Amino acid sequence: MKRLPLAVLAAVFSLCLARGADTLTMATEATFPPYEFLRGQEVVGIDVELSRAVAQKLGRAFRVENMDFDAVIPSVMSGKAQLAASGITITEDRRKNVDFSIPYVKTGIVVIYPKKTPFTDAAQLKGKKIGVQSGTTSETHVLEQLKQEPERFKTTPEACAAMLAGRCAFVIADIDPAKNCVKGDDRLAISDFISSEEYAIAVAKGQGELLAAVNETIRAAQADGRLAKWTEAYKAESDKLKEVAPAATAPAEKGALGKLWDSICDDFYLCFLKPGADGSVRGTYLVRGLGVTIEVALSAIVLGLLIGFLVAVVRSSHDKYGYFPFLNAVSKVYLTIIRGTPMVVQLLITYYIVLRSVESKELIAILAFGINSGAYQAEILRAGITSIDPGQMEAGRALGLGYWATMLRIILPQAVRNVLPALGNEFIVLMKDTSIVGYIALIDLAKGGDIIRSQTYSVYLPYLTVAAVYLVLVMTFTWLLGKLERYLRNTGADVVHNNS
Ligand code: GLN
Repeated sequence: MKRLPLAVLAAVFSLCLARGADTLTMATEATFPPYEFLRGQEVVGIDVELSRAVAQKLGRAFRVENMDFDAVIPSVMSGKAQLAASGITITEDRRKNVDFSIPYVKTGIVVIYPKKTPFTDAAQLKGKKIGVQSGTTSETHVLEQLKQEPERFKTTPEACAAMLAGRCAFVIADIDPAKNCVKGDDRLAISDFISSEEYAIAVAKGQGELLAAVNETIRAAQADGRLAKWTEAYKAESDKLKEVAPAATAPAEKGALGKLWDSICDDFYLCFLKPGADGSVRGTYLVRGLGVTIEVALSAIVLGLLIGFLVAVVRSSHDKYGYFPFLNAVSKVYLTIIRGTPMVVQLLITYYIVLRSVESKELIAILAFGINSGAYQAEILRAGITSIDPGQMEAGRALGLGYWATMLRIILPQAVRNVLPALGNEFIVLMKDTSIVGYIALIDLAKGGDIIRSQTYSVYLPYLTVAAVYLVLVMTFTWLLGKLERYLRNTGADVVHNNS
């Protein structure tokens, strides 16, 4: 009983210790070409080259962690990453929390506008819905200069897609990603700078040595022309990144339905089948994402069942026979905390605080979801155990079985059979809930669809496909559970009979 949680703890701690203390991790948000963007599964760009050069200078291994922009600075503050390099503008507010390197580029923010409502004067912004990427200086601009609330999106391409769908009037963003958004899209255009900025790399406060290495790397890369070379190469590469589905080139005699069909086919090709720069097709995001979703959901279900069984047995044994008073109190605290706080907050606390030094995001997600689901499964199983007639326990004991043997072989099989539909429900909810793992930058099925949407600006196919895949997953799972339920209904009595 007591050994299992200890074993889990020991495993987690050894994982924490085993993490590569030598690895220099760069936190970034890879929808910001040419500074950082995805080439297939790999994050590339000017910031990546600069940060890799820092790691080389320090003789450390290098890895890139792709996350939401508003998580980039917090991740160096919490020690999850050592460098925050994401086209980050130096601001006084940020300087209170992190140290900045010397600037490596002078740039600024612009307004992206639909050509049919041209932007000519800053006064036009006032009172309009303005889309921005959450956590950026564009957001601060709207809040502080225009004194109004912006429409916040996770990425600039997402804000532009919303503008094209009529959900906001303008978008404010940094010039380079803005150029990339309007490229090849003759419905959009960009203004001149509305404010100027400088980018730098951020490190945690008090990291003098690291900061010096970053500054030296920037100076050297500026002096020997590497920075200019990277800028040119990644601008050229990211210019080719933006692709818009070609307008359906249907012959004139084709009807509306024929044209619609052609544009769906074009969109399908663009979203899922078109090979990217690394040769892999975009559909790979969904296939790999599905693998992650299944891995996290199934492992969390198993972990949740283990925890659920333990807690349910402790709680019901205490309620009926007064056993395990201490473990019962611990279980009650666990149930209260887990059921009383939102899953996404638990996931973020696990990622940023409790397991901050664990590198595997899959492991973090499995533990967070398993621990969460354990609380719900425990209560379902407890209901099952209490529904079993006390005479069953007495009969088991009278036959000479110990308490645990009776519990495991007589009570639990019947309890599980009774609550299988409720348990199945919990598994389904858990499976769909895993779609929030994008918060910790894990690319699951939902996030995979999101990445395709951000690269193609196509909203229908990526989201509808993701929804359809979840539906198929849940239907398959429900079918399997139905089979198990029928099997237990037909044979359960025998199992109990034979075992006892
Ligand atoms: N330069 C802007 C900022 O620091 C936006 C950066 C980004 O979106 N990656 O807020």
